[in-house]
Amino acid sequence: MVIRTTLGAVPVTVSLTDRAITVSRDDEFVVAWDSGGRLYSVVEGEATYRRGLNGRVLVKRRVNGVRQHEWASDEHAAAIVDRGAALARELLQAGALAHDVVVALEKVARFDSRVAADDAIRFDRVYRPIGILPPDEYLALVLQATEGCSFRSCTFCQFHREPYRVKSVRQFEDHVAAVREYLGDSLRLRDRTVFLGSANALAVPMPGLVPIVDVLAREFPGRPVHAFLDGFTGVMKSADDYAALAARGLRRVYIGLESGHDPLLALVGKPSTSEQVVETVQVIKSCGVKVGVIAMVGLGGDRFADAHMMETAEAINAMHLGAGDLVYFSDLVDLPGSPYLKAAGDAGIRGLDAGERLAQRQAIRSRLAFARPAPQMATYDIREFVY
Ligand code: SF4
Repeated sequence: MVIRTTLGAVPVTVSLTDRAITVSRDDEFVVAWDSGGRLYSVVEGEATYRRGLNGRVLVKRRVNGVRQHEWASDEHAAAIVDRGAALARELLQAGALAHDVVVALEKVARFDSRVAADDAIRFDRVYRPIGILPPDEYLALVLQATEGCSFRSCTFCQFHREPYRVKSVRQFEDHVAAVREYLGDSLRLRDRTVFLGSANALAVPMPGLVPIVDVLAREFPGRPVHAFLDGFTGVMKSADDYAALAARGLRRVYIGLESGHDPLLALVGKPSTSEQVVETVQVIKSCGVKVGVIAMVGLGGDRFADAHMMETAEAINAMHLGAGDLVYFSDLVDLPGSPYLKAAGDAGIRGLDAGERLAQRQAIRSRLAFARPAPQMATYDIREFVY
């Protein structure tokens, strides 16, 4: 339902769906809340604000053609939430709106910064930190069968640093129930896929994993299940194992190749070899499950640039990707003081600048050869992640 009205002389458009309500004031201030009444997006002028369920607000804008990202301060985040609620109240006071719109606006008008802060505390009780998701999964329903990563060895990785833990089926069922209760109507915005977290939930051996996936099939019948996997544990499962998971709803696996050059993988502490990733992908695809393969751009700096570029393209070509598969290019985010930067510095490796990274990405792409229909290729910018 789309309604056009005015606040004073200013045109306002309200769009109400079963997933969200969006209010646009003069196309200059556009606020979106999910159907549970939680604000999740604001666009104002050049800036886009994405609020995560944990209460943090990411600010994105383009300056001189360059995308910039920063986290809003707590005060700024609270002010954004309050301005959204105030806009909803203004509209309600202006009156003459359809009943369904009034009900939705009353709900979002209550989501001020105080309610939002309490909501973030509730989120933290239900979820362990959600380190990262693939860009196409930001609106997935995340359910955490494991916590942390079973390796935590990759020097470039800033995610999943908490201790690794595998939930029992009972604990997972309790988690699912707690997430359902917490999200309530907000589930409707996150109704396309289930993302089985965290870093490598599919690494759980089959006797523990099958009952977990059965819980998903029972609780969310027909909902595609997606998950991360690493190549090291990926090769430990057979085609029969992946077929059994596919029969229960597994539809896509995201796997970090990072590089096709094994000496570079060893340097950065990646647990898998490129051959293990290729083999894992081939087995998974033979069971009809799609894959999303992530290659890092800039990893290994100048020292590894040529080998990284050529062997990454070779590895991806060996996977025989096709329709429904994804290839993501993820720029190395080398945070000051990170183990990666220290190791690279100790080895005398110079990092690639933005132009060199772009050239490396283009060089890898130019070497990729796919049968038709080809997989989709896209950017995986970890700085844009918000859940
Ligand atoms: S396996 Fe993945 S999640 Fe674990 S440390 Fe390496 S990159 Fe990070």
